[in-house]
Amino acid sequence: MKDLKSRPDTVARNVRNIPRSGIRDFFDIVSSMPDTISLGVGEPGFLTPWHIRDAAMFALEHGATSYTSNLGLQKLREGLSDYVERYFHVRYDPEDQILVTTGVSEGLDLAIRAIVDPGDEVLYHEPCYVSYGPVIRLSHGVPVAVETSPETQFQVTADLLRKKLTPRTRALVLNFPNNPTGAVIERGELEKIADLVIENDLLIISDEIYAELTYEGEHTSIASLPEMQERTLFLHGFSKAWAMTGFRLGYCCGPSRLIAAMTTIHQYTMLCAPTLSQVAGIEALKDPENDVERMRSEYRRHRNFVVHSFEEMGLPCVTPRGAFYAFPHVSNLGLTSKQFALRLLEEERVAVVPGEAFGPCGSGFVRCSYATGFEDLKEAMKRMKRFVQRLR
Ligand code: PMP
Repeated sequence: MKDLKSRPDTVARNVRNIPRSGIRDFFDIVSSMPDTISLGVGEPGFLTPWHIRDAAMFALEHGATSYTSNLGLQKLREGLSDYVERYFHVRYDPEDQILVTTGVSEGLDLAIRAIVDPGDEVLYHEPCYVSYGPVIRLSHGVPVAVETSPETQFQVTADLLRKKLTPRTRALVLNFPNNPTGAVIERGELEKIADLVIENDLLIISDEIYAELTYEGEHTSIASLPEMQERTLFLHGFSKAWAMTGFRLGYCCGPSRLIAAMTTIHQYTMLCAPTLSQVAGIEALKDPENDVERMRSEYRRHRNFVVHSFEEMGLPCVTPRGAFYAFPHVSNLGLTSKQFALRLLEEERVAVVPGEAFGPCGSGFVRCSYATGFEDLKEAMKRMKRFVQRLR
């Protein structure tokens, strides 16, 4: 009983040790500052295309208010199976190889939980999306970061990964095009990584949420390489390319025994992804007006503009080849990235995210999302230029 008394406000050890997301901390400050142009959040500046919103409203009016099957609506899984085959060149069976999830966020959590035993090591490359390390730790796994740098255009390479392998390595998380650097991974390098994965009997969790937002060359999914489909959990969703973040809709494709394991967790924790969002997803896949391509070419224009602006400012920046972020190096101006971001916010009301939010090797860089409206982007670059000129 004595023990119980001291327990109620005790937080579990593996949760206690997880820091708050650096992005959130920063945006608590931003939200208290009026007239700020935010290049901070990883969200499309577009509204969800009208025909998708219309389909969700129609479904609501017609009473689509109940649960779906745990796996997700059959029609959506069939649509996804066709889409993934067409776009990523891998065929998955809608019956037992596709699970519809509440965003890629849920898919990532389920994938890690389904394959990681306590103490298993999971490799991922940094700088990276803020969730990977914490999600691995919450599953009692051991996150092992592999640093990438401008030297390899922020590509992770098989050589870099090999150095971090141990007998406990279970899986590798890949994210290309990458948040926060915009890096993509060349097919040749992917093939070397695939060889390493086979040699060491690993699984891959491949987060390809930005695949459609690739600006040069064609996106290659590692799942499409020989022998990789059976070793890969492929994560994808509607948040970015379809501008549907608030719908919370994603999916995972993979070998049926792993999808079944993920579904076991999903059925006891989430039940199913939101029904209206699933109906919206069926509509989104039709893309009758090429909205995805329209948004992609607009982001490409934004990308070219910000890269050119950083050049003019004298800030080194690896040209992002996908997603909608640029990751310029700022610390040769005599400030840390955190100081740079704070002063830029205070003095010019422009919000960017300090690079260390994406892992220690992001220090010295800042992440700028260029998914915002073009006029805002132009004004933000003007203010940033003024700020950089003052620092020199
Ligand atoms: N993966 C990456 C790389 C992301 O950038 C994000 C969102 N910022 C997610 C996953 C989560 O996406 P969703 O909205 O589908 O949960």
